[in-house]
Amino acid sequence: STGQPAVEIAGVRKSFGAVHALRGVDLRVMPGHVYGVLGPNGAGKTTLLRIVLGLVRPDGGSVTVLGGRPGHPETLKGIGALVESPAFVPYLSGRTNLKVLARARGLPNDEVARVLQVVDLTDRADERFAGYSLGMGQRLGVAAALLGSPGLLILDEPTNGLDPEGVASMRTFIRRIGEQGTTVLLSSHLLSEVQQICDRVIVINNGRVIADDTVSAVRARTGATVLKIWAS
Ligand code: ATP
Repeated sequence: STGQPAVEIAGVRKSFGAVHALRGVDLRVMPGHVYGVLGPNGAGKTTLLRIVLGLVRPDGGSVTVLGGRPGHPETLKGIGALVESPAFVPYLSGRTNLKVLARARGLPNDEVARVLQVVDLTDRADERFAGYSLGMGQRLGVAAALLGSPGLLILDEPTNGLDPEGVASMRTFIRRIGEQGTTVLLSSHLLSEVQQICDRVIVINNGRVIADDTVSAVRARTGATVLKIWAS
């Protein structure tokens, strides 16, 4: 990995009332890698991703994203994200939903065809969104996040709630996106998933980063906390 970090975080803290979601997080996301943010429920993964997107303001610390401030319009131009169930219009087709988003951003229609192909939805793109399965809807969400070819793709538990086939294809698409050079930052509570998709892993537990390395190096570690998370 060369060049400036895509994301640089130092000393970031965030509490919600008495809940300390992040207790002083330092990390760097280097371009061209697929990062997994791994940790159990409530570890602070979603809060971390929302801070990178500028949706949550940290109580302290510094955050630089693509060289700029998180949430700033210029910064957001370089980011595609799927951090909650995407809102699509049910009575429009998947393709028309994407065309609406593309047009709003001044992107050409062939960009819609391109992203549909990446997530293997071309054959079903002209069906109404209302008839889509959860997995198809999630794939359309990833397609929407890919409009405009962002350099950084942020996905919060992208396989959550999908059936095994949906999980397998989502993992394939994300790997493919990473192989094309997009920097990916995704959260997961499954070691097996991170092993399948990612080349780097940030392990977060109780609001702290407890490991940040290649997947193979972190796997080789024998720290008790890390092992507990591996087993969960
Ligand atoms: P999960 O896998 O369950 O999504 P997570 O690792 O993404 O977990 P976060 O969603 O970041 O964890 O939550 C970290 C902690 O902060 C949790 O205890 C959560 O209940 C709390 N929290 C997060 N957002 C809020 C909020 N808006 N208001 C109150 N508490 C919150």
